[in-house]
Amino acid sequence: MKFEVTILGSSSATPIFNRNPTAQALNVNDRLYLIDCGEGTQQQMLRFDVKASRIDHIFISHLHGDHYLGLVGLLSSMHLNGRKKALKIYCPPQLKEIIDLQLRYSETILQYPVEFKFTDPGARELILDNQDVTVESIPLDHRIACTGFLFREKKRQRKLLKDKLDQAAVPVEYYSALKKGADYVSPDGKFFENDALTVDSDEPKTYVYCSDTAYNEGYFTQISNATVLYHEATFLNDMLDRAAETYHTTALQAARIAQKTNAKKLLIGHFSARYKTLNDLLDEAKSVFPDTELAIEGKTFVIGD
Ligand SMILES: [Zn+2]
Ligand SMILES: [Zn+2]
Repeated sequence: MKFEVTILGSSSATPIFNRNPTAQALNVNDRLYLIDCGEGTQQQMLRFDVKASRIDHIFISHLHGDHYLGLVGLLSSMHLNGRKKALKIYCPPQLKEIIDLQLRYSETILQYPVEFKFTDPGARELILDNQDVTVESIPLDHRIACTGFLFREKKRQRKLLKDKLDQAAVPVEYYSALKKGADYVSPDGKFFENDALTVDSDEPKTYVYCSDTAYNEGYFTQISNATVLYHEATFLNDMLDRAAETYHTTALQAARIAQKTNAKKLLIGHFSARYKTLNDLLDEAKSVFPDTELAIEGKTFVIGD
């Protein structure tokens, strides 16, 4: 089962130093979930081979331009490229108004259905549940309404123990029932409990996306034990006051959050334009949480690696 994220943009506010505003493509079993869509996201998708036709769900954390200004362009290209299948957008309610207005004045009627699921910035809600994942909104603490997103793999079926199945001479047609937890009785009446023939699958992995936010313990419980935690780290800690003022987080704070919430791995991003190079941000985070990496353009991280 594939579960990996490709970073399309790592910059806060403006595009600079080859860094684009925020966007990420999460690949779950070759279905793509686009998370935020800053300006230039389409170019980044072409550059890093992220196919728009495979995206059926788009998540927009909040309405600061660096997180959604690429969206109308992407919707328009999907239309021009002949898309017919539905697209679902999870976003603040006002985004629909913005999209409708832009389409109305260009007299564009999209040739595919767009379904909206509006996020409630004050609520932790299950917003998507399909065969591969569940997604919860995470109430964050930003200047305007902002939610993060918690992606959790679906629990997989039990794993077959091949040698035990062979020993018990279990016919192949029973495998599917065994994976679902059924016991087995052989033709000569011998009883096998399920856990003599199978083992439980691994715990589902999670990808936690914490978009723009101030350091706030309110969301720590919800994001705890993340397999991979992406957290914004706009500033170095010597800009702590500025971070608080603008409802952002420092690299050191992001690392403390990863540590306190028991994340397995931390990705940091949303870097301020004041930093031409990012080593200091990485070093600062690593001083507290060693398993930190920079979420920079073109990097793909396998979740659970
Ligand atoms: Zn931002
Ligand atoms: Zn913001």
